[in-house]
Formats: sequence, C-alpha cells, structure tokens
Amino acid sequence: MELFKAFWKGFASGMKKEGQMKTQREEPGKQSALAIIKEPPIQIVGECLSAQDFVRYVEELSFPHPLPTRIFLHHTWKPTLEEWRGLDSLYAIKAYYEKQLWEDESGHLHEGWTAGPHLFIADDGIWLFSDLRYDGVGVYGHNYRSRHVEMVGNYDAQRPSGPVLENTIVALGILHERLGLDIEKLNFHRDFSTKSCPGWAVEKEWIIPLVKEWIEEYRREKEKKLSALRRSLVRMIEDLLVPVNPQAALAKAAQARGLLGALTHEIPMEIDDRGYVVQLFAEALIVPVNEWDKVESLHEYEEDQVSTTRSKEDEERHAPPPRDSFDFQGEIR
Ligand SMILES: [Zn+2]
Repeated sequence: MELFKAFWKGFASGMKKEGQMKTQREEPGKQSALAIIKEPPIQIVGECLSAQDFVRYVEELSFPHPLPTRIFLHHTWKPTLEEWRGLDSLYAIKAYYEKQLWEDESGHLHEGWTAGPHLFIADDGIWLFSDLRYDGVGVYGHNYRSRHVEMVGNYDAQRPSGPVLENTIVALGILHERLGLDIEKLNFHRDFSTKSCPGWAVEKEWIIPLVKEWIEEYRREKEKKLSALRRSLVRMIEDLLVPVNPQAALAKAAQARGLLGALTHEIPMEIDDRGYVVQLFAEALIVPVNEWDKVESLHEYEEDQVSTTRSKEDEERHAPPPRDSFDFQGEIR
C-alpha cells in the first residue's frame, strides 16, 4: 500500500509538473508561487556483494540500450570508513538524498532525488544502491548514460587501501570490461566540479593502471577457460574426427568459423556440370540453461566472452543526450 501511495504521489507530481509547465509558458510571472514537488522514495537494491559475486552479477546483468558511455569515481568523504555501518549507512544516505531540494529546467523546486549513485564500496563489500542498469545521480549535469561508483571514506589526505581499494579496482574493472568502455577514460567527479572528489590523494595516473592490470588478468583467465572448453569438446569427439591438411581451403575456412574438426575427408562432387569439393565438419552449439533463445555456435560464444560488447564506433552513432536527466546538488562529495 505504501508503495502504491508513493507511486501515485510520483505520478501525480509528474502530472502537476506537466500542468505547471503549461501555466508557466502562458503566465511566466506565476512560477514563484508554486509548491515544492515531492519525489517518491528512491528505489535501491540494498545488497552487499563480495568482489567475486559482483563480477558474476555484472557479467549476467543485461543492460538496456543506449548503454552507458562513462563511469565516474567518487568518495563519500562522509561517512568515513570508520563511520560506515553497512545497510544502516546505506539507508541514512538514501534518507538524505530524499530530503535534497533541486530545481528542474523549468525552475520548479523538487524535494528528493529520483535516484542516487550506483555503488558504495567499503571494506565489507560492494553495496548496490541505484540499479546499475539505469542512469543514477552523481554529478551535476552529467548523469545521462553515466554510472557512479562511490568509495566509502575521505581520500583527500590519503589514498584508499586494503579491501576498499581492492573492491574498487574489481568494480571499475568489470564495469568497464562488460560495457566495452576504455579504462583510460575513467571520469572523476572533480573533472566537472570544484570538489576534490574522489579525493585529492586519488590520481588517475595511480588508479587507472591498477584497474588495467585487473582487466588484463581477467581477460587472460577467460581465454584460458575458453581454450579449455574447446579442448574438452574436441576430446569428446576425438574418435570421430579425421586429420586435415591445414592449408586446404575448406580446412582453413572451418578453422576461421570455429568448427571443432573434420568428420570426413574431402569429397569431390559434381553439381550442375560443375566440380565441387565437399567436406563435413563438426559444429558445437551452446545455450545457457533456461535461456533457450540464446543459442550460439561455440565460435560465437567464444567471441562474445572475449568482447562482451559492441564496438565503440557503433556506440557513438547513438544520438547525444538532449539534456541531463537529473540534477545533483547535494553535500556528499
Ligand atoms: Zn563525487
């Protein structure tokens, strides 16, 4: 019931917004007399994952298009790492965001953000706040197609270390890899603000190579697993395969297509008075259990695992944002 009320309130305030925008256009002078629009409570995920589980979580998350184009790193400044109380802190932050006042592009005042940052990373794990599949709020005027990662703590005087740093490296690594984003282009909040966020002690020259190293190791591990998969499949049908001349046109084409191996020797054939060579090859198809519409050839599966996303150029072809979705004017930095 509470949820329905909140939804109705949000819906009604949306209607009100529409109406007010019309009024404003007709009678621009009346705007100041309008009431504050109360936003519905922020929906949060509210779960804490280990770095390893977070990798799995992001690997399996299906991001709707258009995909995010950048990731911002922040620090909370407050709460500090010592003050952090897990879920209690997460709810305190949520309550804080829900009290913030902000002005939309038509000059209307709103109370409460519609979303917040996506992750709060502490020593106890990676806390999921706003849903990673959608835009959140983190940098004034730069929230469209962005994701926001908060390191819990104040890093103006000293760099993060220990589990909070390790968890941050993993989170940034898997997000960039999964979304096909270049870690060299990691964004800091302070790139667009006078704040120190993610803390003066945190420099791109320091953190980017650490994440890069993680990404390289992640790719190596993945390729190892893939070649192990192919080897074990070939081993299963070893008795059926025949040796081929690797320079033959069909054998080369089979390899390029990622087929498992030849099942016959080359067979000369005549079709409509023309000579052909035919050869049968083994192909493996693979599908995740209970996702029966996601059938791929082994080759397609391998390609997908190596680069999970489309090329950057394809990404750029999407229209740029008309304007940012939400404002950010809070105190947390
Ligand atoms: Zn920030």
